[in-house]
Amino acid sequence: MAVPQTQRDFVGYGENPPSFSWPNGARVAISLVINVEEGAERSIARGDSANDLGAHWIPARGSGTRNLTLESAFEYGARAGMWRLLRILRKHHVPATAFCCAAALELNPPGAAALVRDGHEIADHGYQWDTHTELDDDAEERLILSSRDAIHASTGRMPTSWYSRDGLKPGTRPVLARTGFSYESNSFNDDLPHWGSGPGNPQLPILPYAGDTNDSGLFRQFPTAAAFEKHLTAALEMLLDDTRCGPSVMSVGLHPRLIGRPAYAVALDRFITHARGRSAWFATRQEIVDAWVRITTPERTTAACPPPS
Ligand SMILES: [Zn+2]
Repeated sequence: MAVPQTQRDFVGYGENPPSFSWPNGARVAISLVINVEEGAERSIARGDSANDLGAHWIPARGSGTRNLTLESAFEYGARAGMWRLLRILRKHHVPATAFCCAAALELNPPGAAALVRDGHEIADHGYQWDTHTELDDDAEERLILSSRDAIHASTGRMPTSWYSRDGLKPGTRPVLARTGFSYESNSFNDDLPHWGSGPGNPQLPILPYAGDTNDSGLFRQFPTAAAFEKHLTAALEMLLDDTRCGPSVMSVGLHPRLIGRPAYAVALDRFITHARGRSAWFATRQEIVDAWVRITTPERTTAACPPPS
């Protein structure tokens, strides 16, 4: 039976990923990602018909009324959690990439300024922390441009890349390529950046993100900081010990309202301490894409690993 052509790529680098090293000879590039979303979530306070339940532990009861306790769980991230997270990154001298909702930056100007002051990469996570799945391509383009411009106004930086809350539609990538984004992260399909696939692909590099090495599992699969730290360390050690030729990227998703709580912040602090003693390169996502682009072109990747004998 013929296989339907879906423009999806199930082969990728396969057994022969590119053979190169990250700067300083590192085998694993670590991308820490700060999700700046607080105040951009759906809420009655914002005029929405319901409150968002994303990544916190307080159940929303009833509808149509504000729940100040629920709102406060998000506020913690902006008021306290983000500052703790930034202090930990400063202590270790490691950079991060901030996936910023424009509205969250507008509501917390000191936080926006501190992200820039500390040298973290500014990326675009939408104007609000909203879903785009129901939008047509033109409406989504208008929203992407409005968030890009608002983030620029809040930070003085044009966002480098785009990460959608709930996934990319087929029409989104061409919009990103022609509106000045340099790569995107809406993928979970590889351990390295790649050029995407399918006819008409606009050759915008893709740096896959990670849903497992992500603090969104706190309160769920990671009931304690120790469980999260163990998970992160195991992922790094696997990437270091794997006999796969060539380097890898490890993305770590962080949310100030979660990892910024003192008990959970310990997990990040200890993981960074561990990783700094290993063959790891902490870098922004733009730095990782730039290092990878230097050894590749859309047509071919230089220096592929030899096939296994
Ligand atoms: Zn997010």
